[in-house]
Amino acid sequence: MNAHTHSSLESDIKNHLNVQRWRHDFPILQTRLYGKTLVYLDNAATTQKPYTVMEAENHYYRYDNANVHRGIHTLSQRATEAFEYARVALQHLINAQYAHEIIFVRGTTEAINLVAQSYGRSRFKAGDEIIVSGMEHHSNIVPWQMLCKQVGAILRVIPVDDAGELDRNTYDALLCQRTKLVAITHVSNTLGTINPVKRMIDAAHAHHIPVLLDGAQAIAHLPVDVQDLDCDFYAFSGHKLYGPTGIGVLYGKSALLDDMPPYQGGGDMISSVSFEATTYNKLPYKFEAGTPNIAGVVGVGAAANYLNSIGFDAIVGHEQALLRYATELISEIPGLRIIGNASNKTGILSFVLQGLHPHDIGTFLDRQGIAVRTGHHCTMPLMERFGVPATVRASFALYNTISEVDKLAEAIYQVKEVFK
Ligand code: PMP
Repeated sequence: MNAHTHSSLESDIKNHLNVQRWRHDFPILQTRLYGKTLVYLDNAATTQKPYTVMEAENHYYRYDNANVHRGIHTLSQRATEAFEYARVALQHLINAQYAHEIIFVRGTTEAINLVAQSYGRSRFKAGDEIIVSGMEHHSNIVPWQMLCKQVGAILRVIPVDDAGELDRNTYDALLCQRTKLVAITHVSNTLGTINPVKRMIDAAHAHHIPVLLDGAQAIAHLPVDVQDLDCDFYAFSGHKLYGPTGIGVLYGKSALLDDMPPYQGGGDMISSVSFEATTYNKLPYKFEAGTPNIAGVVGVGAAANYLNSIGFDAIVGHEQALLRYATELISEIPGLRIIGNASNKTGILSFVLQGLHPHDIGTFLDRQGIAVRTGHHCTMPLMERFGVPATVRASFALYNTISEVDKLAEAIYQVKEVFK
């Protein structure tokens, strides 16, 4: 055995041991369906939760439950501490400069709506342009369309090429004096494409245009450093990073957030209220009206700590190995077409099979215990671009294994046989 194969065998073994260890953190992976062990490949829709996240929420309700920020009593102080501790964990996850740049919201969708209605509505006027891309999730299209209707602004779209990459030249040409914001996804939920966001941000900033990144599909799969990216806003959801549903984060640069009007009015977001005039609270509370999802915040803080404890070197290495292996294996299947062949991808594989509807494939795979997503993935314009009504999407997380990819490929061969 030469030195190279020896070291790659060593790293394979280490990788295998790591994944087995991580799998133990996720009790749901022991589930059996139709006599088979669950193979969960729907991670782009939502990820499974480790014990540490469930225990953090449970601990909060069992020992610390009280409303935050307003109470003088011990439990309220404990709840507030847990809440603000989570904010710092999220700050570290994305390397934000300040904790008050982390605004807790319901998820990516609410984060983008907040920027559209607070930042956009107060600044944009008729004829202004907002640039999005042809691979956006509906939640990074519809809020801008709603804003365009309200203020008379215009949506411009960066086209997607056959490989599933953004057309760089058109993007550069779209940036102009009328452009008031660029809102693009960091990673495509349908194609897996990792967009060259740093370069795109630099190009926008050269025209003094701020950039919002939809980080829903990046946050659990890539190291995200908002200071290095220099993005102006970054949106993500807790449930895609092994945390709970109903909680997410809007990161914004302090100076921008400070200048923006509140999104919703209510308790906690004010410093004083009278019938004549109300003054607003400082960041981040100005954007956190009402009693927040405290348990969710505690849970997503635990998820951020979990990811930080594993580290992105190990996560990226493992998920890239899965993607390479799966792409090779699945490309060999006759009649199968992979949608999205960008040179830089996360572990997302969308495909169609000649003569078979994605929903039939999904239903067949489910009976084999394999969970994949089928449909338009909330990216209808992208489906139209590729001339398909739907795809089958397998998406990987840190706990998926090579043998699960083998099961997926085997089941695709079987479904072809059955529906022949
Ligand atoms: N953007 C992308 C790229 C997504 O994948 C998703 C979730 N599928 C969203 C936005 C919306 O996230 P949420 O539903 O958690 O608000």
